[in-house]
Amino acid sequence: MAGIELFKHQVSGGWWPQRDSGDNAAACTADSDPQLSTYVRAGENVRTFLQRHPALQRRLGWVNPLVLTPGTVKLISSEKQSPSIWLTARGTNEIPAPDSLSEPQDCLWYECKYLVAQSRDICKPNSWVFYSDQTGVSIKSLQLRLYTELNVSAGHYTQVSRPGRIQKILTCPEENRAVAIIDRYDINSDRDTYFNMAVLHRVCDPEGHGQSVQIAVETVSFIFNAQHHCRACGCARLEDQHITQERKLTERTRNSLVHEPIGRYLVNMHALHNTALLREILPRELTSPIAYVADREAHHQERSAAMRIAGPLKRAGAQAKAAETRARNKGMKDNVQKGLR
Ligand SMILES: [Zn+2]
Repeated sequence: MAGIELFKHQVSGGWWPQRDSGDNAAACTADSDPQLSTYVRAGENVRTFLQRHPALQRRLGWVNPLVLTPGTVKLISSEKQSPSIWLTARGTNEIPAPDSLSEPQDCLWYECKYLVAQSRDICKPNSWVFYSDQTGVSIKSLQLRLYTELNVSAGHYTQVSRPGRIQKILTCPEENRAVAIIDRYDINSDRDTYFNMAVLHRVCDPEGHGQSVQIAVETVSFIFNAQHHCRACGCARLEDQHITQERKLTERTRNSLVHEPIGRYLVNMHALHNTALLREILPRELTSPIAYVADREAHHQERSAAMRIAGPLKRAGAQAKAAETRARNKGMKDNVQKGLR
């Protein structure tokens, strides 16, 4: 895995420090950067090889970042497409149509496969995202340390960053508008004590129905990973589910866990993708490392004192066992020799 990541880094034009003249990777194809003389990268032929071979791009899962424009969407195929007015397209949620449409009643909405977030992430329905209430917020503004549900004054405007899950992505080409219907979630003020991760809960109205909103796709900041909090929700039910093969359901089944319909999820803090953005946007008290023991030195002393008793006992036990095995093997060998005589 590390080798593949290294290869991706080199072939996509990444830089690395040149340790010495005997560095194999650097010596073969590298040309030095005049400004950063200690850093080198792959030569022109290696760099263009990836761009000239789409098969290699596909195998490495690499997408040219210039192809992805933040705030844009990709439509689903025309065969699967059934354009409809807002009241039908929005589904069962009572979400008002976007503002400032010239003909809100007649505008036809088309379903989309994905949207491109400000971080150039591809976000599909069911993706977890952070979005901003301020239209056109760029990724640079995330450096202002936005906190969930905490208004941050930045010059003449105030912006709020919220987590949510994309339910549907719709676009109206005549109006040149694209929106995402988002299931609203909120982050608990305390992290989960067992997993040591931030917890998301569904935002509900007083009747207990989950709330959803429509947002402009340009306001989606970045994608993150969340997993159902099965431990807190008591998910234990197993059900046979059909296995898919090449996107088609087969007759074969496998026993899978069925999640309880409770809107409680864990923000996956182990995920590597967008890990810096996630830590930037979450309050520090939800992400700061927690020491396993308060007094590290006292803990080491205690453990080493225990090892001084357990260690010799273990070694004596191992020696006794080895002697026993040797004696047994010797006995077996003697018996075999007696049988041969
Ligand atoms: Zn679950």
